[in-house]
Amino acid sequence: MDSDASVSNAAALVVSPKVQEKLARLGINNEMDLALHLPIRYEDETHVFPIAHAPQGMIVQIEGIIVHNEVVVKPRRQLICRIEDSSGSLCMRLLNFYGSQVKAYAVGKRVRLLGEIRHGFFGAEMVHPKCRIVKENEPLATAMTPVYAMTAGLPQKTLAKLIHQVLRHSKQPGLFDETLPDVIIHRYRLPGFKDSVFTLHHPPPDTQVNLLQSRMHPAWQRIKFDELLAQQLSMRLHYRQRRSRIAPQLNQKHDHGLRIRFLAQLDFSLTMAQEKVIAEISRDLTSEHPMQRLLQGDVGSGKTIVAAIAALQAIENGYQAAIMAPTEILAEQHFQKLSAWFGPLGIQVGWLSGGQKKKDRLSVLAAIESGTAMLAVGTHALFQEQVNFYQLGLAIIDEQHRFGVHQRLALRMKGMQQSGIVPHQLMMSATPIPRTLSMSYFADLDVSIIDELPPGRSPVITKLVADSRRNEVVARIQQACQQGRQVYWVCPLIEESETLQLQTAMETCETLCRIFTDLNVGLVHGRLTAQEKADMMALFKQGNIQLLVATTVIEVGVDVPNASLMVIENAERMGLSQLHQLRGRVGRGANASVCILLYQQPLSSIARKRLKIIFEHTDGFEIARQDLRLRGPGEFLGARQSGVPMLRFADLEQDGALLTAAQSVADEMLNDYPDLAQRHIRRWLGDKTEYLRV
Ligand code: ADP
Ligand code: MG
Repeated sequence: MDSDASVSNAAALVVSPKVQEKLARLGINNEMDLALHLPIRYEDETHVFPIAHAPQGMIVQIEGIIVHNEVVVKPRRQLICRIEDSSGSLCMRLLNFYGSQVKAYAVGKRVRLLGEIRHGFFGAEMVHPKCRIVKENEPLATAMTPVYAMTAGLPQKTLAKLIHQVLRHSKQPGLFDETLPDVIIHRYRLPGFKDSVFTLHHPPPDTQVNLLQSRMHPAWQRIKFDELLAQQLSMRLHYRQRRSRIAPQLNQKHDHGLRIRFLAQLDFSLTMAQEKVIAEISRDLTSEHPMQRLLQGDVGSGKTIVAAIAALQAIENGYQAAIMAPTEILAEQHFQKLSAWFGPLGIQVGWLSGGQKKKDRLSVLAAIESGTAMLAVGTHALFQEQVNFYQLGLAIIDEQHRFGVHQRLALRMKGMQQSGIVPHQLMMSATPIPRTLSMSYFADLDVSIIDELPPGRSPVITKLVADSRRNEVVARIQQACQQGRQVYWVCPLIEESETLQLQTAMETCETLCRIFTDLNVGLVHGRLTAQEKADMMALFKQGNIQLLVATTVIEVGVDVPNASLMVIENAERMGLSQLHQLRGRVGRGANASVCILLYQQPLSSIARKRLKIIFEHTDGFEIARQDLRLRGPGEFLGARQSGVPMLRFADLEQDGALLTAAQSVADEMLNDYPDLAQRHIRRWLGDKTEYLRV
């Protein structure tokens, strides 16, 4: 790659270290970064409107003479200038201003203002418009004026100048060379890269303003396509790299002895959706290259059984399987369930957790190492140095979103390979990922979706109840318990302080004990030891506890079908996926279930939107789509910390068609134009591809 110096992004910018540091804050480290620092919007200074007839609700330019200039101090200190043209007048108000501005905007000066006209206390006014002193008949701009994202100490003008320098006088030969082959440019009727960049920085006078602003202009389309393509290329390359490694071939036994015996034990049959994903996984496992599959299915869709069947395929072939869960409670529950399923098949299940007694731990480690335990279940304790597998064939990660993004995980998985053989990987997630998002950010995985819930579930009814009416909830709890049902009471999430959260949970528990003297009330929270948590969950599962007070530790995976009522306190503080996960703890049996969301008033506008969504929808995919719309992909994926390069220009909702095109072009480029593909990745991602080297 080093021979390919002509497109190296490394060429340093010729600027002072101070400016360099400021540019770095904008993510600009080289010439191409500057060229791709595209305007966030444009200002139209090509027209002057008469003050009296300027349109409302948009940014307009007006020109007039200052006829009055005054600094007032009430209601707060501000500079007020009245500006007049032949049609009328308006007020310019500056709340922050320099003494020099008071002098500069003297009566008699001619100014051009760019801003939105509103009607305020002083009549028609512009607050903090862009203001320039001009001569009479000063020529108007002939093109739209770009506006760039800025950082402190680096004004628009400086940025614009630096960008201009790169566009006109780059020292790097080939900086703007085309990275797309002609066939693709023609197929999608794309404008050239260089032309597009130049157009967006300096739109020619005849450019259609609305296309420019809405980013639908062909030049924008090209840039967004390139960005999406870079993402696809790097993800697909990553996929291919991992895929080129060697994994154990886990053949499907003709008789499927273990699988058949396993299925015979169940008192239900698999759903079509479960059958479908099992077939996909099963086929992957027979490959000599590692599977990298993400299994998505809404809460309660029955992913555990799918995992169990995949594990059996490994075990049938003499390889071990490991299942990792994000919390002790969930890992413990998996252990219980899988031991009960696998015990009768003569398969020993090893259980590893952080809080285990040393003696137990050592004996489990020995069983895993010798292959006596063919299935290992645990928390991330499974990935520690001392754990040596006899022969690991399949690693399953439950609720993968809780571990962070998959790349990180893959890194940890490295410790699990032996002698160059990589285990197959199955990641499971109950946070449904909208299609466009999974097409882009999960393009380095194969995805299977369980799109159907087991039959006989009655949908959970959601009720929103203001905190002031919490007394009404008491009667409901009493009623549910009288009918032999069980109840979860979820305590508020207090992000600022875990201690405070714990305290609240304990107080809630005391209060509820006092109210429900005839019920057994239990409490689980994050500070309990693994054993204590497990004991409490066992009591609840057996029905010895009717009302379980819990912090959000029960969010993931907990499965107690007899629980049919859930009360969530301060629901307005929780995120949508968390609420959906919590609510998924009920509605697992045949009984109609209810989830009561208690909320504290007043609600912020975002909290109101969240509660409305969770109230109106039960389908996890729909909730995820709305959540994505509400928060944007960065927040949704929690990817900010993960180092996954986020999209700056493309908008997954708006640019679905471009995404589909980029997806199909990526494989074609990697196969037929590998050099161009490399150049393209480097132009767009530079050193940001580092994270992919796992
Ligand atoms: P999740 O996908 O949320 O991990 P689980 O695997 O915990 O869901 O399954 C939820 C519940 O549904 C469990 O009690 C499980 O035994 C049950 N279940 C799974 N598959 C089926 C099925 N095909 N028919 C009926 N019940 C099922
Ligand atoms: Mg689960």
